[in-house]
Amino acid sequence: MDLTFKQQHAERMQDKKAQVQAAMARAQVERGIVVLLTGHGKGKTTSAFGMLYRALGHGLRAGVVQFITGTHASGEVTFLQQQGLLGQGAMAQVDYHAMATGCSWQRSDWEADLPAANQAWQAAQRMLADPSLRLVVLDELTFMLQYGYLALPQLQQALERRPAGQSVVITGRSAPAPLLALADTVSEIADTRHAFQSGVKAQAGVDF
Ligand code: ATP
Ligand code: MG
Repeated sequence: MDLTFKQQHAERMQDKKAQVQAAMARAQVERGIVVLLTGHGKGKTTSAFGMLYRALGHGLRAGVVQFITGTHASGEVTFLQQQGLLGQGAMAQVDYHAMATGCSWQRSDWEADLPAANQAWQAAQRMLADPSLRLVVLDELTFMLQYGYLALPQLQQALERRPAGQSVVITGRSAPAPLLALADTVSEIADTRHAFQSGVKAQAGVDF
């Protein structure tokens, strides 16, 4: 490798380091944030649970509401159960609620799902008011907005009133524009390709 290339590399890295240090110096605010993970690509729920495990690794309490649960028990939830971390209310390391009807997108009876949807939103409200929960995951929440089980102003109000140090992760496809506008961090995961489209069956450890 010639010397000029090495010198150029060292200079570029030096510039980068200075830029990163300046950006870090500017970011001084400490508060909980709203993270929105949306889009049609794979990786929203698994990313939200990745953040949950991060929080647990730091000894923090967390809450999870799953507004749609699939037909298979998911590995991420089973794992927490096996570790004895899952429960309901103040005693649990992870305060957890799954919407009772499960796979609602397969059903056509809106009214039949309403009590379970309301219960799930109540659990979410409880968590969004609990200052001991540093992270709250609202998995597939966009479904509640999309199908009219929850109005956006209700969600906005609950998010605004939450404890200052609490971060919230919202996942789901088709997030409406006002939800994108209120989130502090937004990642739209694009569906560039998915193995399912080539006929590969959903598998344990990868898809659930
Ligand atoms: P994951 O749970 O793997 O992070 P996700 O939360 O981004 O996925 P969802 O829309 O909730 O995606 O769908 C969950 C299930 O559908 C997963 O089994 C996932 O592998 C599968 N899936 C996600 N995106 C696609 C896609 N673009 N085409 C087909 N199947 C998909
Ligand atoms: Mg998901």
